[in-house]
Amino acid sequence: MPPRGGEKTAALGRPSGRRRPSDQRYDQRYNERSMRPAIFFDRDGTLNEEVGYAGRPEQFHMLPMAAAAVRRVNEAGWAAVVVTNQAGVARGFYTEADVAILHRMLAAHLAAAGAHLDGIYYCPHHPRGSVPAYSGACGCRKPEPGLLLRAARELDLDLTASWVIGDRWHDLACAQAVGGRGVLVRTGYGAAALAEPEAAAPHHAVPEYVADDVAAAVEWIFTAATMATTS
Ligand SMILES: [Mg+2]
Ligand SMILES: [Zn+2]
Repeated sequence: MPPRGGEKTAALGRPSGRRRPSDQRYDQRYNERSMRPAIFFDRDGTLNEEVGYAGRPEQFHMLPMAAAAVRRVNEAGWAAVVVTNQAGVARGFYTEADVAILHRMLAAHLAAAGAHLDGIYYCPHHPRGSVPAYSGACGCRKPEPGLLLRAARELDLDLTASWVIGDRWHDLACAQAVGGRGVLVRTGYGAAALAEPEAAAPHHAVPEYVADDVAAAVEWIFTAATMATTS
């Protein structure tokens, strides 16, 4: 048994199109399209302020434009999914119940702006945690791709057409590990990460683009990136 943990918010299946069985070519396309691409958002430093192990409600502050960025993904028909390392659980700084409270705040903030997430996946583990139930190696702590793989399974996502937006090299590395691509944002630890590119080397992380913030990252993915893949 792997260490326990990892929450998922309800993901409502939604049909990707109306089926026309008489048209075989359409059917083929329908099947290909049943796997959606996703934009995976890192949480701390990408959607909300990086404060160092945010576990209490008063530490949770959304970044400006974050909700608009998620809404843009919703409107494009892509899945919007959060993937976040929450080693504060393993370190005993806060509990999974605290994480759930923050994720309800996140969902409420997004809902107020007409945006929603298709899933929130987090890793509560750390190799050297102080809480035994969460301490030890796992496959879901980024740069490991476990969170992405689980989301892909549960939400029927095409990872090779998907992107991760994050402020740390390991965010990009977990995208690349599953054939996806990554955009680094300058918010959170992003500026510091750019200042020491040698830290990217162990992760073999290569950003496709560096954006000022999450909204610029989404915009770039939906313009430059998708233009390149469809031409
Ligand atoms: Mg981060
Ligand atoms: Zn984990």
